Amino acid sequence: MSEAACAHIEAIASVTLAKTHACEECVKIGSRWVHLRTCQTCGVTLCCDSSPNLHASKHARASSHPVIASAEPGERWLYCYPDEAFAEY
Ligand SMILES: [Zn+2]
Ligand SMILES: [Zn+2]
Ligand SMILES: [Zn+2]
Repeated sequence: MSEAACAHIEAIASVTLAKTHACEECVKIGSRWVHLRTCQTCGVTLCCDSSPNLHASKHARASSHPVIASAEPGERWLYCYPDEAFAEY
């Protein structure tokens, strides 16, 4: 990790990667997504804010799980919702 963006991102020793390349909530309701994000607290993979259902940010608010990683191939970054902090790794 380069410069620490916030305490939540700093606390992440190893980045949790997506187990499956799909939004778990969109699959349940038969919806579609744009990009995927993986929660760094519980490991769930959900859809981004450009997706119609915004499952990743809803999950972050509802569960108080602050940090997500991009689950898109070739993207290596983390984002913290409460601090609006961004870090590449
Ligand atoms: Zn933070
Ligand atoms: Zn979704
Ligand atoms: Zn979570």
